[in-house]
Amino acid sequence: MLALNNLQILYDRAIEAVRDVSLQVPAGSIVALLGSNGAGKSTILKAVSGVLYQEDGEIVSGTIQLDGAALAGSSPRAIVQKGVVQVPEGRALFGTLSVEENLLMGGFTRSRSESAAGLERVYAMFPRVKERRSQVSGYLSGGEQQMVAIGRALMGDPKLLMLDEPSLGLAPQIVETIFDAIISLNKDSGLTVLLVEQNAQLALQTAAYGYIIENGRIVLDGPAEKLRANDDVQEFYLGFS
Ligand code: ATP
Repeated sequence: MLALNNLQILYDRAIEAVRDVSLQVPAGSIVALLGSNGAGKSTILKAVSGVLYQEDGEIVSGTIQLDGAALAGSSPRAIVQKGVVQVPEGRALFGTLSVEENLLMGGFTRSRSESAAGLERVYAMFPRVKERRSQVSGYLSGGEQQMVAIGRALMGDPKLLMLDEPSLGLAPQIVETIFDAIISLNKDSGLTVLLVEQNAQLALQTAAYGYIIENGRIVLDGPAEKLRANDDVQEFYLGFS
């Protein structure tokens, strides 16, 4: 579904954040992109979502294709309409708006009846979000905010959902709820997922295939179970010695 080919990305025309990255996310799969702070993971997601220009970032070579058609160069809105939706790192909710208003923002490209159906779907998936629907989102716990952020993305009815560090800073129980939801969206609705994580253990349990990025380059990729068994991955990413 998504294919990045030899992507090179610069910030401020000078800082090379992504170097010659090629990566595939087949339809119906969950693919993980792993790496430490500053490795280039968020930059790749921003390139796919079309928002790099907001930070003076630029794709200087390579291509991004969705179902074989060029994606780079489309506006962020057009990219959402093509079915590619990102849940940004830190969630980026509209903190002064209610939970339901945040969710409705995610359905901005859709009709009123589609939005109503979307809300029901999100509330069925996350009953906790339904309970809190009238509350100001800025006062929710981190885990609740992450559920709202995922719900808001689902309101756009994506075919490819990109999640940037969904487990960051959350309690284990909430992380489990969120990852169960991601897995069931993939299994039951066939949603394709690109998952960016620093928690390699969690990501390699969830995804079928993984890519490891260091200093802007993919240094290793393979089926998740092969990566889990790899000595370097165990030492540097899974904390085994
Ligand atoms: P993190 O988990 O910390 O977000 P990451 O793997 O997502 O890490 P990126 O945020 O993509 O990494 O950053 C990749 C490189 O690009 C880093 O060297 C970072 O300092 C640089 N970078 C990121 N955003 C900008 C920006 N807006 N302007 C200049 N350089 C940036």
